[in-house]
Amino acid sequence: MTSTTTEAPIRVRIAPSPTGDPHVGTAYIGLLNYIYARQRGGKFVLRIEDTDRTRFVSTSEQMIFDSLRWLGLGWDEGPDVGGPFGPYRQSERTEIYREHSEILLKNGTAYRCFCTPEEIEEIRKQQVAAKLPPRYPGTCRHLTAEKIEANLAAGKSYTVRLAVPPNGADLTSSTSFRDELRGEITFEHNNVDDQVLMKSDGFPTYHLANVVDDHLMQITDVIRAEEWISSTPKHVLLYKAFGWQVPRFWHMPLLRNLDKSKISKRKNPVSLIYYRDSGYLPEAIINFLGLMGGGMPSDINGGTEQFSLAEMVEHFVFTDIRLGGPVFDLTKLKWLNGEYLRKLSPEDFFQQVRTRVFGDDYLRQVSALMQTRIETLTQFGDLTGFFFSDAVLPPADTWVPKKRTPEETLAFAQEQLAVLEATDWTHEALEPALKKLGEEKQWSVKENFMLLRSIITGSTMSPPLLESMVIFGKARSLDRVRRFLDAQKKLANQKK
Ligand code: GLU
Repeated sequence: MTSTTTEAPIRVRIAPSPTGDPHVGTAYIGLLNYIYARQRGGKFVLRIEDTDRTRFVSTSEQMIFDSLRWLGLGWDEGPDVGGPFGPYRQSERTEIYREHSEILLKNGTAYRCFCTPEEIEEIRKQQVAAKLPPRYPGTCRHLTAEKIEANLAAGKSYTVRLAVPPNGADLTSSTSFRDELRGEITFEHNNVDDQVLMKSDGFPTYHLANVVDDHLMQITDVIRAEEWISSTPKHVLLYKAFGWQVPRFWHMPLLRNLDKSKISKRKNPVSLIYYRDSGYLPEAIINFLGLMGGGMPSDINGGTEQFSLAEMVEHFVFTDIRLGGPVFDLTKLKWLNGEYLRKLSPEDFFQQVRTRVFGDDYLRQVSALMQTRIETLTQFGDLTGFFFSDAVLPPADTWVPKKRTPEETLAFAQEQLAVLEATDWTHEALEPALKKLGEEKQWSVKENFMLLRSIITGSTMSPPLLESMVIFGKARSLDRVRRFLDAQKKLANQKK
């Protein structure tokens, strides 16, 4: 009798956390997962990893859905479309994680830790002072059953920690796994912490929820960014602790700033909303991301570096991905976007301008600010140009309030940026947040708002600032402040 082994049907996922604007890195990993699934007749799952309630941003999930759909990266299963393995939002699965942590407590691969946050912090401080890597020393690992019962009876709160071997499930001193792009990777257990799996608030950590869900959702290939490699030994130990089969792991190169540091909003716009609102075409972004780590044959379409999503599904080779850090070069993305604009028919180009630059909703909101402010209709352009432009910078020194130096003004603008980043994008939230900053730093309301007005609108005269910023949008407003700061830094360096 011949035996046939049937490979499980391919299932991949992306698992973004709704902690802010959707990130270009999520689009990159989403693209790769999408291609992998489409090439193999598999399923592409979207799971929302929202267990970290301290970083949760309520508007983020919808922005993730909208921006991935805008890019054309639709999913087969997810919170909004359902599917046979739901729910697909981790906050709706807490009971599942609790049950699974019980399994580990029972089989001895995890333990309850009653140490208080203060005690943990104290240990951490001592380790930092002694130049040791911060690690939990295993204080609660060998508590007697009586002690545990007594702690529970006394209502002490606890976390559940992974018992990293030795002393756990198997007495090995290292964990190895295969990375499909790198080969075997081994981590000595000396370097693996007894990871918290369940927090004292009853929510799981990323590690437990991620492994439980990948198993229950029958994920065959975990395709994610390489920053998760150091978490993978913990995940492999968890799969073993449950007695489950480990999926294939593909860790993709991290996108980098021009200076090769990990891509960050300090040096590059990273919000997909920014790119959408700033007039990039989804086809150009997909093409650009497809160039990042390699994988496409270099001679495709005559070596033009231009290809579509469908062509990527047809030709992309995962094992050709290069591991050197791909640079997210905005100049190149802009060039590519220009190429795509020129491919449009004149009518399609006009429609893009009409809907993306002068969209009805946007124009209606901007008009509403103008009716009481202009005497002829064509003055509309004089006052609202900044709403429809890309590079806007205030003329030299007009942005420095009379009694301030340029240096202290820039330092204050930097503080404004931090406040804007952390604030909900509504008039009600922005006004008190900015005023509070002004009070703290002893900047008058006039100085405070005049500076921001200059940065956002390029002028000291404009329609009402906060209303304008709300219409203009958070992603583009933040970009304008960052660009202003960058431009001033460059100028200052030139003067040196
Ligand atoms: N929630 C993680 C993230 O935000 C998922 C990482 C993974 O794919 O395992 O990227």
